[in-house]
Amino acid sequence: MTNPRELLAEASEDATVVPLFVHAHPDDETVQTGSLMAWLAANKVEVQLLTCTRGEQGEIVAGVLPESTTAGELVRVREDELARAAQTLGITAAYVLGTPPARAVGHQRRDYHDSGMRWIAEGLAGPAEIDDPQTFTASSLDDEVADLLALIDRIRPSVLVGYDRLGSYGHPDHVRAHELADEAAQAAGLPLVEVASEPGADGFEWFDLSDQRSTVVAALRCHATQLSVVDGRIVHVGGQHQELPLSAGLRRIR
Ligand SMILES: [Zn+2]
Repeated sequence: MTNPRELLAEASEDATVVPLFVHAHPDDETVQTGSLMAWLAANKVEVQLLTCTRGEQGEIVAGVLPESTTAGELVRVREDELARAAQTLGITAAYVLGTPPARAVGHQRRDYHDSGMRWIAEGLAGPAEIDDPQTFTASSLDDEVADLLALIDRIRPSVLVGYDRLGSYGHPDHVRAHELADEAAQAAGLPLVEVASEPGADGFEWFDLSDQRSTVVAALRCHATQLSVVDGRIVHVGGQHQELPLSAGLRRIR
């Protein structure tokens, strides 16, 4: 396979490739798949994005927002950051799970809250202790699948793109997003292409997307409450450093 579009076209079994990316939080679209989405958009693919939560549990980079910022205000800021990053990457349309049209028909909007996480090992996240029945992981997977199927019915993607079962770095919401994409793909009879969590992982087809560097950096900078870009690397709010995501490993699993 020479490029990601061909891989998605082969999975789609159709020359018209309309991928729907399933992500967990605002910023994941850019941090995890920014170069892939930007490359596809630059190559005339209509890229659709579903984000499952509004990132309510994200820490805030010091000094970016006033200390008086409320939880509700942070949600609106992160929605705005997501919208600007999506525009920068060239994404055609962005949706949030639980909000129509990504909501089962006949039901009122509901919000799936960020489940939070804590580090359980170097670079590996595990569940946080949050007592909230509305988190993405505490909510019914069946309800979430029904909401995603409503979106699929509306926008008719040709292929779903999601995390592999490692969920990038183990964040419980990323693992749930993988399960959601897998269940929904099965129910809708759609192919599912997963994105490798580990750089260079075996069993994936790898693509160099470094020509998207400037677009990715610009999109990352939209997420100023969560990260900064210093000396060509991402510095997350928690202090972790990460290389720019300028390649993607993909494989079809369904
Ligand atoms: Zn995330």
